[in-house]
Amino acid sequence: MGERHMYEVLVVGSANADLTVRVGRRPGAGETVLGTDLVESAGGKGANQAAAAARLGGRTALLARVGGDAYGELLLAAQRAAGTDVAPVIVDGAARTGTAMIIVGPDGDNSIVVSPGANAALTPQDVAAAADVIAGSAVLSLQLEIPMETVRAAAASAAAAGTRVVLNPSPAPESLAPELLAAADPLVVNEHEARQLSGRADGEPGEWAHALRDQGARSVVITLGGDGALVLDASGIGEIPGVRVEAVDTTGAGDAFTGALATRLARGDGLADAARFAVRVGAAAVTKPGAQPSYPTLDELG
Ligand code: ADP
Repeated sequence: MGERHMYEVLVVGSANADLTVRVGRRPGAGETVLGTDLVESAGGKGANQAAAAARLGGRTALLARVGGDAYGELLLAAQRAAGTDVAPVIVDGAARTGTAMIIVGPDGDNSIVVSPGANAALTPQDVAAAADVIAGSAVLSLQLEIPMETVRAAAASAAAAGTRVVLNPSPAPESLAPELLAAADPLVVNEHEARQLSGRADGEPGEWAHALRDQGARSVVITLGGDGALVLDASGIGEIPGVRVEAVDTTGAGDAFTGALATRLARGDGLADAARFAVRVGAAAVTKPGAQPSYPTLDELG
């Protein structure tokens, strides 16, 4: 399948500089705590997924906007190092590169504030200009850190070209446009997003997955942190057990998972097989600090 395509995975999405500080205790409202030295690294859900796919050997490209500043250069350098084709990336001299301010707590879990910057300027026109690239890719991977109209334009362009869409609706919206949900094959959500989008505060992952498929998603993957993932498609439901590791930093684990999933789907794997591989990649990503710096190559995955 991949051989006929210009790219196995095209990501249209965000690129952010991750500014990370670790703390012994999270600050409450009005409170100040001291953290470790600041670490600047490459992140943003779109850029993360592209880096994950490229490091695993997938022929990958990224369509994103970065600012004409030092963080933009850092993000481009990180993509090139991962092996991503950055030809579609637009350097926007009128905007600041997006940034994510990340606090990593003592348990390895994180709290994040994102300033979209140049990501907010990625338009449906940018997507229209890349129609040939979308049509020339086996899989288009989308998230929601860019304007929703841009995501919708990209999904529509993929649908018209027969390019498979992997949709990771994060940060979780209140609801998703029906045609966006209908394009998702699969919809990739974590537990929080599954609850929110399925409209079921209670219940179990299996119920959320069925609800999301009933709402129109062609297939669904729910990531379950250390417990692995659950997949649902026309062939039924499958549980993928987690891989036991010592979690150091979960930043970008879901993106590692999604990038890995996209490369395997692009090569023609079934959903369960692709998710089994992605669970291993996600687990490897939590054993090291940072988002992109934590992503494994195939060799490192063992
Ligand atoms: P998100 O990062 O989007 O919240 P999850 O927390 O569900 O998503 O994690 C995504 C994937 O990363 C999981 O499916 C799993 O493969 C891996 N992962 C996350 N946390 C852990 C953990 N503590 N131990 C092992 N694997 C993990």
